[in-house]
Amino acid sequence: MMKKTDQEWADELTPDQYRILRMKGTEAPGSGAYLDLSEDGMYSCAACGTDLFSSEAKYHSGCGWPSFYESSDRVGRRDDDSLGMKRIEIYCKHCDGHLGHVFPDGPQPTGERHCVNSLALKFKAKKGGVETE
Ligand SMILES: [Zn+2]
Repeated sequence: MMKKTDQEWADELTPDQYRILRMKGTEAPGSGAYLDLSEDGMYSCAACGTDLFSSEAKYHSGCGWPSFYESSDRVGRRDDDSLGMKRIEIYCKHCDGHLGHVFPDGPQPTGERHCVNSLALKFKAKKGGVETE
């Protein structure tokens, strides 16, 4: 796993990205840059570039954040009991960055909704089979 100090992350990330990825914050619902994006490509970690979600698994959940019914195996899970709720946090296994939460109300085939902050992601469009920034 990638290890960086808080100061190193603060230098690399924007203040909003730092608040979400490192402090487990949440962007305002409906505010995310990737909420309505439906291009083909890969959503990678905004902090370390690890591929996390494919556009093929993205769907419109209406929850206010980009939603995916499936994640790559680089997305980890752990219990989150903050805010008086029982939720399951999802995070990037490579850099330990907070991504969002996973809920059991998604579409088939998984029945899961990965609810992810746009600010925790970086989209790489796939054009003619080549991924571009
Ligand atoms: Zn990462």
